[in-house]
Amino acid sequence: MLDCLVIGGGQSGLMCGHLLARAGANYLVIDASARAGDVWRNRPRNLRLFTSRQFCRLADLSMLNDPNGFPSGEEFADHVERFYINKAINVSFSTRIVRLFRSGNGFIAELENGSILNSKTVINATGSNQVPTYPVFAKKIASTVRQIVASEFGDADQFPDGWNVGVIGDGASGRQIALELADRHRVYLAQGRVRKHVPNIVFGRDVFWWLDKIGLLFAERDSVVAKIIRKRDPIPVASANNQQLALRGVKLKPRAVDIQDDHIYFSDGSHERVDAVVWCVGYQENTDWIDLPSIEREKYLSEHYGKTSENGFFVIGRKWLTCRASELILGCERDANMVVDLVLKNIQEK
Ligand SMILES: Cc1cc2nc3c(=O)[nH]c(=O)nc-3n(C[C@H](O)[C@H](O)[C@H](O)COP(=O)(O)OP(=O)(O)OC[C@H]3O[C@@H](n4cnc5c(N)ncnc54)[C@H](O)[C@@H]3O)c2cc1C
Repeated sequence: MLDCLVIGGGQSGLMCGHLLARAGANYLVIDASARAGDVWRNRPRNLRLFTSRQFCRLADLSMLNDPNGFPSGEEFADHVERFYINKAINVSFSTRIVRLFRSGNGFIAELENGSILNSKTVINATGSNQVPTYPVFAKKIASTVRQIVASEFGDADQFPDGWNVGVIGDGASGRQIALELADRHRVYLAQGRVRKHVPNIVFGRDVFWWLDKIGLLFAERDSVVAKIIRKRDPIPVASANNQQLALRGVKLKPRAVDIQDDHIYFSDGSHERVDAVVWCVGYQENTDWIDLPSIEREKYLSEHYGKTSENGFFVIGRKWLTCRASELILGCERDANMVVDLVLKNIQEK
């Protein structure tokens, strides 16, 4: 029987594996994808991270090249793989967990190929960005309109020149995609809730450097300051701010509220005909495999600082698990330390 089964081998799961190995625990990391870093390889082709390389360190392993530069998704994927190899983390790739349930004091995980694993404890490191979400009206769209989600976006060549493209959702991905499409297409960017847009560089430094210096990055999630940031939910948008988008010809629209045939309707009553839609409204986690009675499956799992309502079942890599840095690369080691400590304590108590 394993001491700990880590489900998910992204940066969070690999970091947990590394720390469990250091503590001498009998652990295994399971990951559905074929290679370490694949999550990043499968994100939009031209993705640039919004955190500079200095904030992409994994344990003692810094990224190669200029620490002040912003890596591509592919580059960070290779860094994750380097971390996995360098630390000789015990991972089984191309393996998906399809069901996790209780067995006495521990857990049984059922794999896609029908085999099972027994473990005293489990860390859920499957990430919160697994299944793209769509507004309810998305299904009303005409079959002639081409639809993709942000992670399927390659580059402006994806659509024939001069198409009308609706980009729905103005988070970091939506803004970056709208900008990429702008030269060759007529782009409508539907904005969601009002968020504070911050540049990536402020007075010559990565905005995350400033957030760290003034203590905002790691402020505990229930502190007053963290509650204020949570409410304002700032996003670094690099050059994809409203002014730049408008200058490049992107038509900024308010929230999309409905679709009829090939027309998107916006909250100000206006509507636009589109040939294609890129859905950038976010993701949700897939909890279908969790068959644990005390876990409310649809509910966000991250309310107890890495613990869940199921004794021995822990979670990492979720927004605001402990602080703003949780779910970001730079917060991964701190949260992994906390969760692995909880795991080790739990094993001792068993
Ligand atoms: C578009 C985008 C851009 C981002 N840019 C940045 C950035 O610039 N800087 C930054 O710090 N953060 C960024 N983030 C946030 C964050 O760093 C990532 O979401 C990160 O991938 C989270 O790491 P993770 O290990 O927790 O989860 P993931 O990287 O999502 O890894 C989860 C792993 O679990 C596996 N898995 C899932 N279900 C199962 C199962 N049932 N069985 C087995 N394996 C399973 C998956 O194959 C996957 O490998 C970005 C996020 C997105 C979506």
